[in-house]
Amino acid sequence: VNSVFGNLGTTIFTVMSALAVEHGAINLGQGFPDDEGPDDVRAAAAKALIDGPNQYPPMPGVPALRQAVAVANKRFYGLDIDWQKEVLVTSGATEALGDCLMGLLNPGDEAIILEPAYDSYKPMIEAMGAKVVSVALEPPFWSLPIEKLASAFSDKTKLILLNTPMNPTGKVFTLVELQAIADLVVRHDAYAVCDEVYEHLVFSGHRHIPLMTLPGMRERCVRIGSAGKTFSLTGWKIGYITGPEHLMTPIMKAHQFVTFTTPPALQTAIAFGLGKEDSYFEALASSLEAKRDLMAAGLREVGFDVLPTDGTYFITVDFRPLGFNGTDEEFCRDITVKAKVAAIPLSAFYAPDAPQVPRHLVRFCFCKQDAIITEAGARLKDYA
Ligand code: PMP
Ligand code: GLN
Repeated sequence: VNSVFGNLGTTIFTVMSALAVEHGAINLGQGFPDDEGPDDVRAAAAKALIDGPNQYPPMPGVPALRQAVAVANKRFYGLDIDWQKEVLVTSGATEALGDCLMGLLNPGDEAIILEPAYDSYKPMIEAMGAKVVSVALEPPFWSLPIEKLASAFSDKTKLILLNTPMNPTGKVFTLVELQAIADLVVRHDAYAVCDEVYEHLVFSGHRHIPLMTLPGMRERCVRIGSAGKTFSLTGWKIGYITGPEHLMTPIMKAHQFVTFTTPPALQTAIAFGLGKEDSYFEALASSLEAKRDLMAAGLREVGFDVLPTDGTYFITVDFRPLGFNGTDEEFCRDITVKAKVAAIPLSAFYAPDAPQVPRHLVRFCFCKQDAIITEAGARLKDYA
């Protein structure tokens, strides 16, 4: 079929996971933890499943979860959120992104994305008939080119889609960068859709700052969170959007026709999870930070040039020091088949026609048991 989606390939995450299975490789491609998530959150879901209710919950989400999302916004960021009008529960951040773009964009609008960009952004914007305007961040530090961003804004700019902490780079946007974005959003009377699914996966020396907390941004931003990332429960597909009523109203209209609602027992369990003590959130970040260090040391040992990562559970390397003669896609295929370790090529996060696509970088996911991380490093060392 000739349509935006009919003309698309299969997402790289599915392609690489299938290749990993085919070759019996350690899958450090698609991002998902290799544990089952917190016992108490799963117990809360089991109880809610048995106790019910199990029929359609309210369209915007069960009250307990909407309240918990509002309370978490206050607790972590000092944001005052009206849980009845300003919170929407979705089936994962993936649906949340779709709802936001459907709810806010018209054909002919422009939407700015920063590349490398999560792979769903561009097709979803284009499916709305809107135009993607992309601004590339440059490795190894991926700092925001403020002048280039300024010239990407126009009188057609409806919104910027900002992902911090950023997949696949592990970049955490600084206050100075966020202020520059906020200034442009105000100057162009635009909005910001903030994909903050990795909000709690941030390492020492860095802090996650929601764009929404900056002056003038409360009325112009929607923020997206994901229980998949915050509770290591990626299969549950529970996401949440927080934003001002005038933006949430059209976004809820999109949600009512995309999924209408999300399984109630899982919502109830995540409401419990969001109320967990600070030590839960601190331990999540510090355990991942230790895994980042373990993975980085192993990858350096192999001979890779390892790029910095300050948040998320992804780390990027430059494979050129290994002497591999080929593209990032070829490298990922080669290590999956020969070293039996799968990774994701960074070029998958760029539009095919983007002007400067790096072809020498690959992403490894490190939310895995230490023994798996060590084994992956050893296999890559043998390969190199
Ligand atoms: N945005 C980004 C940047 C992601 O990495 C992911 C994880 N796949 C998502 C959105 C989607 O999250 P979810 O699994 O909650 O749909
Ligand atoms: N967000 C995950 C990643 O970047 C994958 C999600 C998916 O498979 N769609 O690896």
